[in-house]
Amino acid sequence: MFHIDKDKLLHSLNSDLFNKINCDVLRLDNIHNVISGNKYFKLKEYLKDAKEKGFKTIASFGGAYSNHIVAMACACKEFDLQTVGFIRGDENTPLSHTLKHAVEYGMELQFVSREDYRKKEKIIADTNKNYYWIDEGGYGKLGAAGAADILSFVNKDKYTKIFCACGTGTTMAGLIKASLPEQKVIGINVLKGYNNLIDDIELLLDENDKRKLYEIINGYHFGGYAKANDELYAFMNLLWKKENVPADFVYTAKLFYAINDMVQKQKINSKDSILIIHSGGLQGNKSLGENILNF
Ligand SMILES: *Cc1c(COP(=O)(O)O)cnc(C)c1O
Repeated sequence: MFHIDKDKLLHSLNSDLFNKINCDVLRLDNIHNVISGNKYFKLKEYLKDAKEKGFKTIASFGGAYSNHIVAMACACKEFDLQTVGFIRGDENTPLSHTLKHAVEYGMELQFVSREDYRKKEKIIADTNKNYYWIDEGGYGKLGAAGAADILSFVNKDKYTKIFCACGTGTTMAGLIKASLPEQKVIGINVLKGYNNLIDDIELLLDENDKRKLYEIINGYHFGGYAKANDELYAFMNLLWKKENVPADFVYTAKLFYAINDMVQKQKINSKDSILIIHSGGLQGNKSLGENILNF
C-alpha cells in the first residue's frame, strides 16, 4: 500500500529513565502520518479480504477521537474503497479534529446514540447489506493476522520480552502469534475493569499460540480509557525530553509509564532485552489543552 522505511523504525532508549537496560522501541508512529501505528497492520488483511470479495464500502464503529476511524478513512482512500463510520454519541458541531480528518478522506459519518451503539448487531442488520464490516478497533482474527507482521521489522530473537499497549488486544494477539517460544509478550491494559481482555485475546489464538508466554498487566490505566492526570503528562514530557519519544496519552504513555515503573521496581532488569511497540495514536493528543505537552 505504501512504502515503510525499515531503518527509521528502531530506536534504542539510553537514558536513566530505563536504567540503561537493553531497550528498543519500534516506532510504528513513524510509518505514515495518518495511518499510524498498529492500525495499519490491523486493517490491511480486512481491506484485502474486502477487495477480494468484491466489496466497495467498508463500515466500522468508533468514538469521536478514534484512531481506528481516522486510520480506516485514510487507508480506504488509498485502497480505493468507500467508508462509513458509525460514531458513538450525538453529532457535535464543530466536529472533533479526528472526525474532520475522516471526512476529508471521504468517510461518511452516521451518528448513533450511546444506547443504540451498544446494539451493534442491530445496526448491522438494519443497514446496507453491501457493507463490509470491521469490528470496533479492528478486533478479529484478520486483524491479529495483520498485526503479526509487526515483528517482521525487527530481529525478534534479540528480545526476551515484548511490550505493547492493549485496547481490544488484537495487536497483542498478533504479537503472540509471531513471538518465539521462549519470549514473553506483555500487554498493558489501558482500560479499567476490562477483566475479559485475556479471554478476548485467546479467542484470536490457536492452540499452538496458547502455549506461548504472555501476560496482561492491569493497574496502569490512570482511571480508565482516555483518562489521564498531571503525573502522566509530566512523564510524557520527561520521555520526550530524555529520549525524544512522543507518546499519546490514551495508550503509549501508559505503556512507557508502566515499563519505567517496572524497571524501577526491578521487575525488568539487566538480564532482559526488551522491545516496546510504539503503536502510534499521536493524533489523539490534539484533544488536550495547548500547554500540557512540550511536543
Ligand atoms: C488502537 C490502539 C491501541 C490498541 O490496540 P488493540 O489492538 O486494540 O489492543 C494501542 N495503541 C494505540 C496508539 C492505538 O491507537
